[in-house]
Amino acid sequence: MPLVGFGLWKVPNETCADTVYRAIQYGYRLFDCACDYGNEKEAGDGVRRAIADGLVKREDLWITTKIWNTFHAPAHVHEAARMQLQHWGLEYFDLLLVHFPIALQYVDPKHRYPPAWWDDNKQLLPMEKTPMQATWKAYEELVDQGLVKNIGISNCSGSIINDMMTYARYEPQVLQVEMHPYLNQEALVQMAKSLGMAMTGYSSFGPQGYIELQMDKGVGSLFKNDVIVGIAKKHGKTPAQVLLRWSTQRGIAVLPKATDSALLKENFASTSFNLDEVDLKKIGSLNRNIRFNDPADFSPKMSIF
Ligand code: NAD
Repeated sequence: MPLVGFGLWKVPNETCADTVYRAIQYGYRLFDCACDYGNEKEAGDGVRRAIADGLVKREDLWITTKIWNTFHAPAHVHEAARMQLQHWGLEYFDLLLVHFPIALQYVDPKHRYPPAWWDDNKQLLPMEKTPMQATWKAYEELVDQGLVKNIGISNCSGSIINDMMTYARYEPQVLQVEMHPYLNQEALVQMAKSLGMAMTGYSSFGPQGYIELQMDKGVGSLFKNDVIVGIAKKHGKTPAQVLLRWSTQRGIAVLPKATDSALLKENFASTSFNLDEVDLKKIGSLNRNIRFNDPADFSPKMSIF
């Protein structure tokens, strides 16, 4: 799996295909999407155009996507995977993730797609009685059927991973979680390492991607943090590149989202230098355990059955 990928969350449908095409031109090979992002069809258009134009071959790309919380029942896992492959216009995914270890009531895609967290009246969807074990077995079947090459999990804690290890026929290959200097996930990083599980950190820029959703918790920009700015100046790089390198240098993949060409290039070039031990220590000490993407913030009354 490449270390620097492109994240598709909130990439507008109108410009998505062109952005993906440009990203491929600039060297990106990993694309991270999800049913929930509502732009898989357009992302697939960009990918297929790049392949048709001879920029890349399918096997040069790593396409990651995620099945949404309303498709946790085994039959719905199969339905969603096939539907999402059709949206992309692809025969297989390189990586399929369980988006959250949270099973919500099924929503028929003909009724609403993507289904989101809420019903038509903006009430949180009720939870569904599907244990993770049943969901995971269906993911494993998708591997057996050749529809996905690797399966993994997102937004999972250590206790869920420990439980999965008791029944998994195929252990999760990748763990994708929120990760930035304000949430360094140190214990989880150690756990994944000890299990040989690859890791991807999302929202590398901390609050940046959450400002437009008013989910940034009033936390100041990491781009203006004195420690990050100081390290960036020292290496002649941008704060964004320092934040990305902090993960990739430790073998953790990143998925920066940008639509502007200059930023796309800047992010892709973030592996062109190395932080030193002092830099890594200083960045590690910024941890404040602040999680911006936390279902507990918007689902405190999530109905349990
Ligand atoms: P991000 O941390 O990539 O930040 C995006 C914001 O930073 C945008 O406003 C963008 O314009 C800006 N930006 C990008 N490059 C910049 C640069 N070089 N300099 C200055 N500003 C820059 O945000 P994100 O979207 O939260 O996370 C990235 C990706 O991670 C998503 O697109 C998605 O693929 C994935 N993700 C996964 C989950 C999950 O539940 N698994 C959740 C959130 C995000």
